[in-house]
Amino acid sequence: MICLGIESTAHTFGVGIVTSEGKILANAKKVFTTETGGMILREVAKHHEKICDSVVSEAMEKANVNWDKIDLIAYSRGPGLAPALKVGKDLAKKLSSEHNKPIIGVNHCVAHLTIGQLCTGAKDPVFLYVSGVNTQVIAIAGGKFRIFGETLDIGIGNALDKFGREAGLGFPAGPKIEELAEKGKYIEMPYVVKGMDTSFAGLVTKATQLLKKGEKIEDVCCAFQETAFAMVTEVSERALAHCEKKELLLIGGVAANKKLCSMLDKMCKQRNAKFFAVPLEYAGDQGAMIAWQGILEQGKSKEIEIDIYPYERTDTIEVVWD
Ligand code: AMP
Ligand code: MG
Repeated sequence: MICLGIESTAHTFGVGIVTSEGKILANAKKVFTTETGGMILREVAKHHEKICDSVVSEAMEKANVNWDKIDLIAYSRGPGLAPALKVGKDLAKKLSSEHNKPIIGVNHCVAHLTIGQLCTGAKDPVFLYVSGVNTQVIAIAGGKFRIFGETLDIGIGNALDKFGREAGLGFPAGPKIEELAEKGKYIEMPYVVKGMDTSFAGLVTKATQLLKKGEKIEDVCCAFQETAFAMVTEVSERALAHCEKKELLLIGGVAANKKLCSMLDKMCKQRNAKFFAVPLEYAGDQGAMIAWQGILEQGKSKEIEIDIYPYERTDTIEVVWD
């Protein structure tokens, strides 16, 4: 079976084509960007509307398939920005009726987790999901994704970007902070783990204050990373112990950070667990993960209305696949 997956939860419009054996035939995308300022919802939707047909054609050319070969259309039904989600859903419906193909809506966050498993071979891991918005420690238990811990305020990526904006590092700040941190030394910062949850807002405030007081930016970046990454490492370790799992899978855009990977790898080695990180191409938003999730769920998950679900949470999704 071959599935065409459409991603449009936020700035990325992506189309991936994947086989039921897990072979990724194409993964085309176009990203909405701005010179200055952030995302204006109406403009993001307009961007997606304008380029969506060309991204579909690009993916089909790359995969070297025509509509006869496509068996299923999957789209991201949520969570995400409603106007952007609507573009993907409307396109999926149009293509489905034009070419007479079945259609399935899937959860975007769950797709991030399962493409990570597909790419790394991790079987039953604890997932550490660290993106701009999300910071969650997740594992499957009793047929559902359970969120063991999450941020109480902002995601780790947004915390890095927020501090980066204060420090004049531009967007995204994560890679620049990583580079500066290599030349810095540790300074004490607020370390906030409450039960299994984390909090990063105080860290941003403290780091900004230290910078204004004249501390070296390299030292502040080093301390910021050490503290934030130690917090998620602690919670990941506790989840591994609690669930008696032997694999940890890192996913989301912050997975690009080598320091974070080395801290998690070290913790895993100490407890005889295996550490995996999603390859960069599949760390951010893209259509291949939506196509793969469509394949996993097709004919198995409960049918729900073909619509958008902007607030759908990961822990409401039943794991109906193996
Ligand atoms: P996502 O939301 O999954 O697309 O991830 C985007 C986030 O990843 C942004 O907040 C970036 O600052 C962050 N990011 C990207 N590269 C790195 C890096 N090398 N170190 C830390 N954060 C990063
Ligand atoms: Mg995402």
